[in-house]
Amino acid sequence: MRIVIIGGGPAGVEAARAAAPHAAVTLVADGVPGAWGPLAGRVWLAAAVAGERNLEAIGARVARASAGWQARCAADLAALDVTPLPGRGQLDGPGAVLVKSLDGEQMRLEADAVIIAAGATLTLPPDLAPDGERILAAEELGKLQSLPASALVVGDGTIGFELCHTLSLLGSAVTWLVPEATPHSGTAPEVDGYLTRLLERQGVHVAPHSRVTRLAARLEGVSAVTVNGERHGAEVAFLAFGRRPDHRAVGLPAEQATTDVYGQTKLHGVYLVGDALAPVAASVAMAQARAAALHAVRRSSEPADIDGIVLAFMEGPQAAKIGRLTTEGAAGSVTVALADSLAAHVMDATEGFLTLAWDYGGRVAGAVAVAPRAAEILAPLAVARRARLRLEDLAAIYGPYPAVSELAAIAARQV
Ligand SMILES: Cc1cc2nc3c(=O)[nH]c(=O)nc-3n(C[C@H](O)[C@H](O)[C@H](O)COP(=O)(O)OP(=O)(O)OC[C@H]3O[C@@H](n4cnc5c(N)ncnc54)[C@H](O)[C@@H]3O)c2cc1C
Repeated sequence: MRIVIIGGGPAGVEAARAAAPHAAVTLVADGVPGAWGPLAGRVWLAAAVAGERNLEAIGARVARASAGWQARCAADLAALDVTPLPGRGQLDGPGAVLVKSLDGEQMRLEADAVIIAAGATLTLPPDLAPDGERILAAEELGKLQSLPASALVVGDGTIGFELCHTLSLLGSAVTWLVPEATPHSGTAPEVDGYLTRLLERQGVHVAPHSRVTRLAARLEGVSAVTVNGERHGAEVAFLAFGRRPDHRAVGLPAEQATTDVYGQTKLHGVYLVGDALAPVAASVAMAQARAAALHAVRRSSEPADIDGIVLAFMEGPQAAKIGRLTTEGAAGSVTVALADSLAAHVMDATEGFLTLAWDYGGRVAGAVAVAPRAAEILAPLAVARRARLRLEDLAAIYGPYPAVSELAAIAARQV
């Protein structure tokens, strides 16, 4: 069986890993397989939280992390006999992919299944487009030549929260232009309120109802005009905007792009996964990629369990969520303070909380946490949810002590 994958991000690499033991896999990638756009931002945030202020040192850390990760992915793919093919891929009907190599040569690959993992693109009107110098996309932190004294962050979402946190920790005076009355991460209102108060304490100025209609870069800085005519200026502006898949760019007609639970499009044997399907997170992209790849090689009939994935953002503190809360149909919930765990006192970081929600059968439905290592607090709950554990089962579990991961069981015992 021949599988062609278009795109070498988290989804493309994961699809290759899942399919390779069962098929001949070609991975068409226009960059280095395993390269991940947001990696630099993650390193910048971790470095800023750790108190690093030296851009050269942060840049070196980014380079080390990227090189290490790309080498790891290359070794994995080689061990699995995946054929990497540098170039841009485009669907040529259901069973074929046209590949344009980086030096312009074209070739056609026949395939029994094609997995499109080409990601999504930032499409903005010219009045808001990044210029790579003063107006930067979220992943372009590394283009800063020096730490800006002031910065505008345009837009909210998880990316907006992270940009404000990173830049303000690095010492920039941040003005956050958010479209509605308060910033939204898309996680849970209690998370948004908690993190917004934290950022404001850190000096971030939140400007509500500030949908930006025009951004202009000048020699001395950048200026933004909002929908109600207000002007804001700073040295640089960062755009925290969402992305959209561009199916036409990979040769998939819009009317064929609807998918079933495995990501299979109306074209039999052509799958859409990850941001190319709908941008959420790398973990979701990888889960979809694995489900599609195993379906394509006829090894599994299980769709990706997206509800069971812990989604996390920010650091120092981190915010994380899994499954459904009471606002999303769960039967009930309890909130415990991070300070209920001895580990928080040992770490001298007692600020934070965990909300645990259950369904009408008394099983774990979901949870949300804000805390240092919140994603790790929720990790046991991902297993509990998958195993359909009842709260009393969870309550009976005593984990390592002291460790913040015990918070989930503490919450269950409180119920
Ligand atoms: C600023 C920012 C921060 C983020 N932080 C996180 C985070 O902390 N955790 C998290 O889980 N998610 C995070 N995300 C989301 C995450 O980056 C995406 O969900 C994830 O990268 C999707 O993986 P993917 O493989 O589907 O797409 P991508 O990572 O976009 O990979 C697609 C790849 O395909 C290549 N490609 C495109 N077209 C073609 C073609 N025609 N031929 C060949 N190759 C092609 C692209 O160049 C790219 O390398 C963040 C996103 C942003 C923008």
